[in-house]
Amino acid sequence: MDGPAGKKRKTVAHGRHLPEWERQTGEYAGWIKASLKGQRYSFCVPCGMSIEVSASGFCDLSKHFETKGHQDAVSRMKSYAVTKAEVLFCQFVAEHNLPATIADHFSELTKEMFPDSEIASVLSVRKGAGFSDQHFNLNKEEADEDGDEDGDDTASLRWKVHAAKMPDEALRVCLKELKRLKKMSQSMPEYARTRNYLDLMIELPWSNNTKDSLDIQAARTLLDNDHYAMEKLKRRVLEYLAVRQLKDSLKDPILCFVGPPGVGKTSVGRSIAKCLRREFHCIALAGVCDQSDIRGHRRTYVGSMPGRIINGLKTVAVNNPVFLLDEVDKLGMSWQGDPAAALLEVLDPEQNHSFTDHYLNVTFDLSQVLFIATANTTATIPTALLDRMEVVWVPGYTQEEKLEISNRHLIPHQLEHHGLSPQQLRIPPKTTNDIINRYTREAGVRSLERNIGAVCRAVAVKIAEVKAASPKLAMPIVIKNRDLKDILGIPFCDREVSERLTLPGVALGLVWTYLGGEILFVEASRTEGEVTGGSDPMEGTDIHLHFPTGAVTKNGPSAGVTIVTCLASLFSGRLVRSDVAMTGEITLRGSVLPVGCIKDKVLAAHRAGVKRVILPRRNEKDLDELPLKVRYDLDFVTADDLDQVLNAAFDGGFPGKEKKQEAKQQIKQ
Ligand code: ADP
Repeated sequence: MDGPAGKKRKTVAHGRHLPEWERQTGEYAGWIKASLKGQRYSFCVPCGMSIEVSASGFCDLSKHFETKGHQDAVSRMKSYAVTKAEVLFCQFVAEHNLPATIADHFSELTKEMFPDSEIASVLSVRKGAGFSDQHFNLNKEEADEDGDEDGDDTASLRWKVHAAKMPDEALRVCLKELKRLKKMSQSMPEYARTRNYLDLMIELPWSNNTKDSLDIQAARTLLDNDHYAMEKLKRRVLEYLAVRQLKDSLKDPILCFVGPPGVGKTSVGRSIAKCLRREFHCIALAGVCDQSDIRGHRRTYVGSMPGRIINGLKTVAVNNPVFLLDEVDKLGMSWQGDPAAALLEVLDPEQNHSFTDHYLNVTFDLSQVLFIATANTTATIPTALLDRMEVVWVPGYTQEEKLEISNRHLIPHQLEHHGLSPQQLRIPPKTTNDIINRYTREAGVRSLERNIGAVCRAVAVKIAEVKAASPKLAMPIVIKNRDLKDILGIPFCDREVSERLTLPGVALGLVWTYLGGEILFVEASRTEGEVTGGSDPMEGTDIHLHFPTGAVTKNGPSAGVTIVTCLASLFSGRLVRSDVAMTGEITLRGSVLPVGCIKDKVLAAHRAGVKRVILPRRNEKDLDELPLKVRYDLDFVTADDLDQVLNAAFDGGFPGKEKKQEAKQQIKQ
């Protein structure tokens, strides 16, 4: 019954556990008992049970299943909950080249019963004396050579490889590697490398997936509950989900959400995964400048690893997750290759069903993965990559939207995060407005959230301190505007527009940076310059034009009208109206050309307290996108040429060409 003398047996004598085993197995106990007659092969189940089977007993059992019919056997086995022992049999069959029919039958049964192969990881086969039995075609030397631990290792690995449901190509590679592994000593560095490789291959979700749930109504509710405003983006996401519901095989365009930081791009990505009931994984691409980061290193390199895509799949353990490629506009490039080029393959529906990671060196089907990208600007996304994606613009928020977002989402979320309740802390809308106006200047709501977090922390300290001293503290603690200075410090962005426009030669422009819309003070000064003796009217005059935060890239042409207004102010010595901001490109003949990102720019002007905005006439249509409140608060002047711009920018207008000529004529007369 026991193994040969000298062999260490960790297994528990099976007889002791038999009654319990019988109770569990019910009908199959008979076969199992029969199989115990030979008592030569010992299998250890971690729960402490040990059974031993002979080859003939084993065959009896399998024949029984065969005669009963496959499905029937599966359901019976499931209902009797006797799976562990059967799984061991399957493992044994797969491991020891039993006749193909039996092996197939059992491995199929096992795969159906344990799709997640969890059992494979908790069971181990202990080899007893019986391995020399020729019935199993197992060579005695080989068995002895393996030794106990080593044998366990490769045996369970082989089982796991079979259970991983990988495609034939990958299976072939794994079995080959397994063969090599068997011949290696554990002390060889190559052993660890091969072992790691096999572990990864086993862990990859070759055929594990989640079932999509596509209820558009539920998706709409979920998106609305999670996010305030952003109607355009939510509509596009719902369209996307609806089309997926109608047509499964659609080669989807890859959505790329472009907008300033903190406007909820990542958060919407997460909600899409939630709507579809898929796993979500975020791959941060900022600063990635090596294509191996995407596609992995070849295994010949020391310290080689798979790329982020394969690593992500391993983490989520399903082959149809939602992958958020965060910050695709910040991909770098170096001598180690262009990661954007590697991403092209990943995102191309024609190619990504056979994505090859250098580390794996076999293809992995990425066609079920749903990719979404986010970026702050399209300017730095490589053109070929941009071409694969559909850009959805996510603009910044208005003051009112920010207030609503903080009341509905940010404050409750931060309260919960800091272990506080609404009964303990109340931040009234007036205070939130003050935080928005004086402590943040951003298109999104990230600093706002951080500041609310700071308020919560301050209150948490107060509550904890008072608790320690005496239990009395008036609840809820209401944060007033005047408390903010103590908690958040001195406000850093008090309104300064009117203060800065007090000298000639300053004009307020509107620009778009990757952080969203911004106001920009363009300043000009005149200094004495070189005299060359020519007929230039500017002879002897140098102009210094100053653009603040020059290091931040801005979209250039739209500063045209601002520069001209600034120069007009400098030369005429007149002040530009202190409540006017402008944007627009200008030609040498003085025509005003349309520019982009009007919504973001106007929102920035509104944030800064500007009252009048001068825009190119051809941008008039963009005003429809603005929230009503903003349209109501601001006075929009649309201009075709420079005269109209200057007339709107200066109090009392600015004399144009005709007026100047009239004035000259009058002087002559
Ligand atoms: P992004 O990816 O655009 O930089 P995030 O998705 O990380 O921004 O959003 C930052 C925070 O702001 C998150 O906590 C998010 O839930 C919140 N947020 C942004 N926009 C909204 C919104 N419209 N409604 C609710 N919360 C929002």
